[in-house]
Amino acid sequence: MTYQDIIQQLEFFRDIGIGSVHTPEAVVEVPVSAATAPSLEIIRADLGDCQRCKLAPSRTTIVFGSGNPNAELVFVGEAPGYEEDQQGLPFVGAAGQLLTKIIESTGIKREDAYICNILKCRPPENRNPEPDEVLACSPFLKRQIAAIRPKIVCCLGKFAAQTMLQSAAPISRLRGEFHDIDGMRVIATFHPAYLLRSPEKKREVWEDMKQIRAELFRLRF
Ligand code: URA
Repeated sequence: MTYQDIIQQLEFFRDIGIGSVHTPEAVVEVPVSAATAPSLEIIRADLGDCQRCKLAPSRTTIVFGSGNPNAELVFVGEAPGYEEDQQGLPFVGAAGQLLTKIIESTGIKREDAYICNILKCRPPENRNPEPDEVLACSPFLKRQIAAIRPKIVCCLGKFAAQTMLQSAAPISRLRGEFHDIDGMRVIATFHPAYLLRSPEKKREVWEDMKQIRAELFRLRF
């Protein structure tokens, strides 16, 4: 067994909720730390040609995520749409163009942030994610975020916000304030696809981005 195999085994225990392993001599803790967080490449390799949920047969491409592996700021959307499923990249359609503007209003270039989704495969007809799909996919999102260790995570829309914040509250209640989760500042805002349909909500999103910009500045100094 290589060192990498041992790390992967410990990460598997962590992902299924086992926080310590009892041995006759000692208790081995399984922390989520920089030392044990695998690189995004290893997490992508573990995902493989994923068949863990019912979305696998209808997807064209797994959309793992894109951007800076050391990003200070991570955006989490809902699930790939048609364009993303074709190209294998998140937020490359119309909502993605608006997302680029939203990201850049924080003072960060799109390529310096990291963008991913709750689900890595497109739901048929862009239907809402289902709980068993979120359950199957979210360990990989957790591991991606642990590997990147951003200062701030911004959840885009109801599904990302409810999943990340473990809440059933509506997005209108969840958005606009920071929550502290695993040493990161987590904030939610409206999804850019919703803004395309309801442009009057853009003002609130700009307010949320102003908060992110100020918080990034504060956390750097
Ligand atoms: N909507 C999302 O939530 N994610 C994408 O990648 C594209 C559209």
